[in-house]
Amino acid sequence: WSSREFSWTKKLEANNKKVFGNHSFRPNQREVINATMSGYDVFVLMPTGGGKSLTYQLPALVYPGITLVISPLVSLIQDQIMHLLQANIPAAYLSANMEWTEQQEILRELDSDFCKYKLLYVTPEKIAKSDALLRQLERLHSREFLARIVIDEAHCVSQWGHDFRPDYQGLGILKQKFPTIPVLALTATATISVKEDVVQALGLMNCIVFRQSFNRPNLRYSVVPKTKKCVEDIDKFIKENHFDECGIIYCLSRMDCEKVAEKLQEYGHKAAFYHGSMEPTQRAMIQKQWSKDEINIICATVAFGMGINKPDVRFVIHHSLPKSIEGYHQECGRAGRDGQPSSCVLYYSYSDYIRVKHMLSQGVLEQTPFASGYNRASTAPSGRLLETNTENLQRMVSYCENDVDCRRLLQLIHFGEKFDSLNCQKTCDNCSKNQSCVEKDVTEIAKQLVELVKMTGQQSSSAHILEVYRGSLSQFVKKHRHETLSLHGAGKHLAKNEASRVLRHLVMEDILVEDVKKSDIYGSLSSVVKVNESRACNLFAGGLTIKLRFPSTV
Ligand code: ADP
Ligand code: ZN
Repeated sequence: WSSREFSWTKKLEANNKKVFGNHSFRPNQREVINATMSGYDVFVLMPTGGGKSLTYQLPALVYPGITLVISPLVSLIQDQIMHLLQANIPAAYLSANMEWTEQQEILRELDSDFCKYKLLYVTPEKIAKSDALLRQLERLHSREFLARIVIDEAHCVSQWGHDFRPDYQGLGILKQKFPTIPVLALTATATISVKEDVVQALGLMNCIVFRQSFNRPNLRYSVVPKTKKCVEDIDKFIKENHFDECGIIYCLSRMDCEKVAEKLQEYGHKAAFYHGSMEPTQRAMIQKQWSKDEINIICATVAFGMGINKPDVRFVIHHSLPKSIEGYHQECGRAGRDGQPSSCVLYYSYSDYIRVKHMLSQGVLEQTPFASGYNRASTAPSGRLLETNTENLQRMVSYCENDVDCRRLLQLIHFGEKFDSLNCQKTCDNCSKNQSCVEKDVTEIAKQLVELVKMTGQQSSSAHILEVYRGSLSQFVKKHRHETLSLHGAGKHLAKNEASRVLRHLVMEDILVEDVKKSDIYGSLSSVVKVNESRACNLFAGGLTIKLRFPSTV
């Protein structure tokens, strides 16, 4: 798609320079443009900042007719339109919260024979809810005015993804109504299964896929055990590695954001917090102060980051467990846009898993603006959506628990990409440990742990199970007379984290299940680990061997 000359090639080159002020094309831009202008359905995976907008704005400019763009956020749309109008490209948008008369005016212009617009932006619920718009599109189509349909942030279509937005699922209607109009689906994040899901839901046909590597060589990844002094640890990390530099700290809850920001201020950092329940003006002010370097550190929920193009973010810290590997990768991706070395540190504790899992099931976890949709109260997920969320979270836990394999490799596998960990060049914690590893069969340990959970009546926490397994004689163990169990101390000879890794692996594999409850009026969480018989029987029937990799000193 890059080398061939097309009838539009010269026109593209000229307009790319003259109208957009670009001297050349970025990777895949030319290829995507040629494919979509040849009339194919195209799916594009390109990192944020890679230049996705040009791949439809340039065709819109040089091709007759109008390009329909579906984009999730009015604020992003307004930003795009401002840039287009500055470049003298006529564009408009329709959204639900616009004045009726204003909408009418745009619709009238679309009906005119000399319609000036090259691009029309709409939010997805417009397609789902506005018959007037669909009829308008039909009229445009019958006049052969509809040139192309663009779906921005296309991963929001998929329930498997981390930003699912129900309104996006209705977009399949576009291909049904206009099967001959080429569709261009764009995203910066999608696993293989998310891509497949999107292609199917949108009804794309013989779709051409362009994907770029998700590897970010200038980012350094590490996972650090989270202690009670986490914020002190963060303070120390920043002072030692990124003194007076700019960074983001992602926190789980709004309260966490405020607490962490306050502590960091006490430690002398120029820190502020940012989350969804702040006034829009207040949020805008924080963003502005941050881009002007008046604030160095933002403690935020995942609501922060969209459309933020600060190039010199030197660190992204996760104060708590992210809810999926895609989400984690996206959030880390906000560091080091300028290509300079930057750090991504994740503070991990297994108890955060319990907490996030509970928040997920209650629907109280703050989401990105894409997923929550604007003006939409979030509701608790159920059924398949909750299952997917839980699986995504479990993969994230496995990533954190893994202290052996290259972090890049672990992330890239998730996006269906092959990666040789030698190319990591020791820029992740596991690769820089320089340890050799062995694979160990832990099936027997796994069976003993499952037995022990049953022996204790399936009413204990995983921490307690591990204590008993290691042979603890604590008061709590004695109170329950668990020192009398035959498996008490059976795991004495194992290295400290070996049994816990096996136990967590069993939870990730759904052989054991963490049952999370709010335990008291103060709302603290407790969790007991139970056996999932239907999965566990396989283990005892000998149909399952479990192997894990450990540092060879173990
Ligand atoms: P994305 O949507 O993929 O995150 P954008 O389309 O917003 O990225 O582009 C990011 C930035 O890169 C914009 O400032 C844009 O003007 C610039 N850009 C895009 N294509 C080129 C190019 N070929 N040459 C130079 N700059 C470009
Ligand atoms: Zn590595």
